[in-house]
Amino acid sequence: MQPTDIFVGSIDQGTTSTRFLVFNRDGEPVASHQVEFTQIYPNPGWHEHDPDEIVSSVETCIEEATREFEAKGYSRHSIKGIGITNQRETTVVWDHETGEPLYNAIVWTDTRSQAIVHELKQRRGATDLQRLCGLPLSTYPSSTKLLWLLENVSRVRDAYQRGTLAFGTVDTWLVFRLNGGVAANVFVSDPTNASRTMFMNLETLQYDTKLLDFFGIRGKIHLPKIVPSSHTTAYGRLAAGALAGVPIMGCLGDQSSALVGQKGFSPGLAKNTYGTGCFLLYNVGDRPVISTHGLLATVAYHFDGKPVYALEGSIAVAGSGIKFLQNNLDFFGESREVNDLALTVDDNGGCVFVTAFSGLFAPYWIDDAKGTIFGITQYTQKGHIARATLEATCFQTKAILDAMEKDSGHALSELAVDGGMSNSDLAMQTQADVISIPVYRPKMRETTALGAAIAAGLAVGLWRNFAELRDINRAGGAVFEPKIGRQESSGMFARWEKAVGMCRGWMG
Ligand code: ADP
Repeated sequence: MQPTDIFVGSIDQGTTSTRFLVFNRDGEPVASHQVEFTQIYPNPGWHEHDPDEIVSSVETCIEEATREFEAKGYSRHSIKGIGITNQRETTVVWDHETGEPLYNAIVWTDTRSQAIVHELKQRRGATDLQRLCGLPLSTYPSSTKLLWLLENVSRVRDAYQRGTLAFGTVDTWLVFRLNGGVAANVFVSDPTNASRTMFMNLETLQYDTKLLDFFGIRGKIHLPKIVPSSHTTAYGRLAAGALAGVPIMGCLGDQSSALVGQKGFSPGLAKNTYGTGCFLLYNVGDRPVISTHGLLATVAYHFDGKPVYALEGSIAVAGSGIKFLQNNLDFFGESREVNDLALTVDDNGGCVFVTAFSGLFAPYWIDDAKGTIFGITQYTQKGHIARATLEATCFQTKAILDAMEKDSGHALSELAVDGGMSNSDLAMQTQADVISIPVYRPKMRETTALGAAIAAGLAVGLWRNFAELRDINRAGGAVFEPKIGRQESSGMFARWEKAVGMCRGWMG
């Protein structure tokens, strides 16, 4: 078979929806299917997914996309490898012997571990953690979610005491289940996902006893083996369905995958993905950079040879702010309408919306911040609030870029973007205005899925090296140039920072 006759599949298991796409050698999706799945909010600040529904959503997408692929005249046998990219940090626990999930998946946005975080911060060694794993203590990584499960769920505690408790992020759970569960017991994770748990040492890419001891879990829980993000055998193969037998060869956490999909392979390149949350990753090369300005250090990818690291700025609420306007405030029926609603007014009318529904992440890290709208008057219209919602993500991106410049010593010259909310032209123009550099949006915005396809494609030989990927998805993109002066944008940003200062510590 010529490389041009080979295709790779990509499972993109996101926070609100799951997709499966089949990519050709030009990096074009030739078939795809997407399903949304249930978001469970049992209490304020809690956010869960049903682990079985996550798996069935993937299976449905594979079946439907393969059907579409064959309807277009291709053969399923030409799909030679599969990549997985997934929502990170989201924590799944199951029984190692039966494969049965012991609780719903606790989603990355969930803040229920606040009291645990507060207590952990007082412990000896708390300040050493970030140097080892790249992340500060917060409700965000998997570690504090796992401790909450151990403290609060009797089935989890029972399994822990019996020695059968298995922990995994969504990649591990999917690989385990897609391989057929306990029968095959493929139990692995890649470094980009494992670097979000707080259990992995960034330098060695293996579990660190100091970290495991700090969280009190060493030797007591089954942890997945950490293997490279692109590998011909470690991830096993699909056990059933239309693509039964096809090997899984790539695995990347969603934000790392988007950096790969944007081909951010050289130090100094960055991408910003506006999905449910918003995540800016900046390639720093083959040594991790531990931030002193509120950013995270993470693994960008580990294909072969040396791993590549990134500085990351995470924003908890981006597209989910738009969903809030849609679902909670009934402002419109579909996310894309936010753009037109915001265009009904000329500016934010003095409104600043700090969308701190899950506290504030980078670079502020205020766990107890609550969503707050400042500047409402009789004059305020829905359009002003829609604009303020879009701007909230743009301002946080600006704060992250400022921090990145301080940590890395370099200013970015262009920002590559993707993710659902990047479809809003107004949001992307606002972003360029606020950061005073051009924003580049590729034509094909499924870059997260493309990243996992690249990880699998490199393993299967669809592409042999990064040079062969250079021209993929380059044509037809849009560039948003800044249209306002730096003074005006500084004024807007100063009002935002003032609002951030006022939104912390609200009770309830
Ligand atoms: P995830 O992978 O986190 O589930 P996606 O990249 O699919 O996220 O993006 C979904 C988010 O993007 C949703 O929160 C949605 O509100 C937002 N979104 C989707 N389309 C648009 C649009 N045209 N304009 C603004 N926001 C959008």
